[in-house]
Amino acid sequence: MVKYTILLAFIFIQSNSYAQAPQRPKLVVGIVVDQMRWDFLHRYADRYAANGGFKRMMSQGFNCENTSISYVPTYTACGHAGIYTGSVPSIHGITGNNWYDNELQEYVYCTSDSNVSQVGGTSKAGKMSPKNLLTSTICQELKLATNSRSKTVGISLKDRGSILTVGHNADAAWWYDGTTGQWITSTYYIKNVPAWVTAFNNRTLVDKYYKEGWNTLYPLPSYVQSTKDEIDSEVKSSDKGFPYNLSANVGVNYNVVTATPFGNTLTSEFAKANIENERLGEDSITDFLAISYSSPDLIGHAYGPNSIEVEDTYLRLDAELGTFLDYLDLKIGKGQYLVFLSSDHGVAHVPSFMKSNKIPAGNINTKSLVDAMNAGLNKEFSESKLVINLLNNQVILDTRLMESKSRANKNKIKDWVIQFLMKQEAVQHAFPLDDLKNTTLNDTQKKMISNGYYPKRSGHIYVIFKPQWIQGFQSGGTTHGSWNPYDARIPLLWYGWKISPGSTMREVSMSDIAPTLAALLRVQAPNGSVGNVIVEITK
Ligand code: ZN
Ligand code: ZN
Repeated sequence: MVKYTILLAFIFIQSNSYAQAPQRPKLVVGIVVDQMRWDFLHRYADRYAANGGFKRMMSQGFNCENTSISYVPTYTACGHAGIYTGSVPSIHGITGNNWYDNELQEYVYCTSDSNVSQVGGTSKAGKMSPKNLLTSTICQELKLATNSRSKTVGISLKDRGSILTVGHNADAAWWYDGTTGQWITSTYYIKNVPAWVTAFNNRTLVDKYYKEGWNTLYPLPSYVQSTKDEIDSEVKSSDKGFPYNLSANVGVNYNVVTATPFGNTLTSEFAKANIENERLGEDSITDFLAISYSSPDLIGHAYGPNSIEVEDTYLRLDAELGTFLDYLDLKIGKGQYLVFLSSDHGVAHVPSFMKSNKIPAGNINTKSLVDAMNAGLNKEFSESKLVINLLNNQVILDTRLMESKSRANKNKIKDWVIQFLMKQEAVQHAFPLDDLKNTTLNDTQKKMISNGYYPKRSGHIYVIFKPQWIQGFQSGGTTHGSWNPYDARIPLLWYGWKISPGSTMREVSMSDIAPTLAALLRVQAPNGSVGNVIVEITK
C-alpha cells in the first residue's frame, strides 16, 4: 500500500507541469516592422515566396488578423513601448516621439537623457536611455524571472525602436548613427563598444549596399499593386525614380541607407552578429532579441503606401525574413524559438493620391494654424504666445501664462481656441482634454484619446482631424499618428515554439502582445500591462 501511494505521488508529480521548472523557448525574437500596415500581409501576398517570411509565418504560425492600437497618437515611440509593455501612454508615459513637459516647460524627446554619454558614434545620437519609460517591458520581466540569467538585446536603426523595447535592465540596446554609419549605444547600457561590434562596423556594409544601388527585384511593369513610378505624390527629391543610383553616398552620407531596403538588410546582419557574439539562444535559459526594422517607415513617409518603392521593400523584406528564419532553424533549432511580428503603427495614403481617387483628403499646415491661433489670442487677450505648439494632435497652452489668469479668463481662452479650430476645414472636433468625460464622442475615439492622455506630458485641447487629413507633407509623402484604422490597425503574427497554426478575426489589441508573451513564458506581465492573453495561439 505504501509503495502504491509513493508510485501515485510520483506519477502525479510527473504529470503535473506546475511541479517542474517552466519550459521555455531558447530564444524569443520580437520583430517590429515600422509603419507596416496590416493589409500589406495580403496586398502583396501573390508575390510573397513560400519560403519567405510572411507566408511562412502566416501558414505555419498564428495570424491575429484583427489587431488594433488602443490609444493615440500612433507614433513610433508609443508603438514600441506599447508592444513591449502591454500598456498605453496614459500609464507608460511615452506620449509621443516628442512631447512638451508642462512642469519643466520644455520639449522632451522620448529617449533623450543628458546624464548619459555615447558609446561609439556622435555625442548627440548617443545621449539616450529609457529613463522616460515609466513601466517595465516583457524583456525586463523575463530577466527578473530568471534572476538576470536571460540576456535581452534590442536592435533598431532608430534609438526609440531599440531602447523602448528592451527597457531598463537590458544587456544592450543598439541603434544606428547616420553621421558615422556605425551601430552605437550609450553609457546607460555599457561603457565600451565590444570588439565584435567594432569589427562589424568596420565591415562598412553600407558602402557595399550603396555600390549595388536600389533597383526593383522584378521588372517595373509587374508592380501592378502600385501606382506607376515617379508620381506627384512622392516626396520631391533629386532622385529620379528606379533605379536609384546610390554610389555617390559611398564614404560620404551614411543616412541615405536608412530610407532604402538595405537598412533592413543591415539590421538583419547586425541581428545575426548579436546572436552569434552574445550567444543568444545557446542554452536553456531564454534570451530575448527585439528587432525593429525602421526603413519601411522612412520609405513609406517619402513615397506613400501605393508606391513601387514600398511594394519592392516588402517583397525584399519577405525574402530576408525567410532567410532569417532559415538561419534561426539552423542556429537555434526549429521549434526551439518563438517569434512574433507586429508593427508600431500603420500609415495614411498620400492625400493627393486619395484626391485623384475622388476620396476626401487634405494636408494641414500646422505652423500656420499655431501662428493664426497666437495672432487671434493676442488680439483678444493681449498675450502674444499663449499657444506653444500643436503636437501629437494636442494644442499645448503655456501653463505658466494660463496660471496667471482668472478661472473665467482661462475658460475664455480655451473656448476661443476651440471655436477657432472648429472653423477650420480640416477639423472634425476640438475639445479640452481635461473634460474628455463630458465630450460627446464616438466610443473608439474616446477610449483611444483617454489611453493617450498623461497630463504632465500632454497638451490641453485635443484636435481630431477629418480622416485622411494629415499634418505637413504638402509637397508629397505621407504620415501617421491618428486614431483612424489606416494608422491603428497592425499585423500580428506568431510563429515557432508552442504556436499552433491558425488565425482569428477576433479583435485583439497591441496591448495584448506582452501579456500573451508573459503567459507563454510563465513570467509576470509587465507592471503597467492592461492587455489580455490571446489564448488561441498555443497548442
Ligand atoms: Zn514608426
Ligand atoms: Zn513614421
